[in-house]
Amino acid sequence: MSAVLEAVDVVKEYPGTPPLRAIDGLSMSVDAGEFVGIVGPSGSGKSTLLHLLGALDKPSSGTVRVDGVDIGRLADRDLSSVRGRRIGFVFQSFNLIDGLSATENVALGLTYQAVTKRDRARRAVEALERVGLADRARHRPGQLSGGERQRVAIARAIVTEPAMVLADEPTGNLDTRNGEAIMEAFDTLHAEGVTIVVITHDVGIAATLPRQVRLRDGRVVDDATKPHERGVDGRDGTSGGDGGA
Ligand code: ADP
Ligand code: MG
Repeated sequence: MSAVLEAVDVVKEYPGTPPLRAIDGLSMSVDAGEFVGIVGPSGSGKSTLLHLLGALDKPSSGTVRVDGVDIGRLADRDLSSVRGRRIGFVFQSFNLIDGLSATENVALGLTYQAVTKRDRARRAVEALERVGLADRARHRPGQLSGGERQRVAIARAIVTEPAMVLADEPTGNLDTRNGEAIMEAFDTLHAEGVTIVVITHDVGIAATLPRQVRLRDGRVVDDATKPHERGVDGRDGTSGGDGGA
């Protein structure tokens, strides 16, 4: 068993009167190297689940394991260390700093790592190369298209060489063409062995993913694996197995 992310009987309630149960007894796991889409209607708990799997938040009950470590038992400081070493995040809004170049924005991903200034710049450029943006390294966000900005944000997420990337509606602010470029950047990372979990409401994008987990009311209502459609050289057919094909 090589699960890198595991949720077992997870409940997440937000305080209120009455409390709001965003995740309602959910179990799922993600193996190393998988490329998983999370789909479901607005309010079904997708973002909450991604926060839990990414150790940004702890469950109210049940167990979340990241690399086999029960995050519910960790102190906040240790939570951030798990995130910093293992996980890169990408969000719908790119969250880039306007006054900085693409390289400088990506280098911010290394802020909490012991990396010399020179290595920072080198690694930032390498991360930009991985997402196909080497020729935009000196551009500022205002000089880039939306799709290019999101690829800078992906480069910032992977500059620490995380084993997994978690993305919450990364194509939500993009047109179809730019959205496809983002998914191709994820395909490349996946082919390099990075585990990817991406929330999407775009049914066209979801249909291309090797595995789709569908949420409703904070529970998994469907979990289907099939060969990867957009994928890279048939390697994806081997990671799947039952169902859906
Ligand atoms: P999705 O990403 O699928 O749209 P969310 O995980 O954002 O769903 O939200 C699930 C439910 O939890 C929704 O009813 C939402 O309003 C509620 N919720 C999300 N975040 C919070 C919060 N910080 N405080 C209170 N309720 C929240
Ligand atoms: Mg959401």
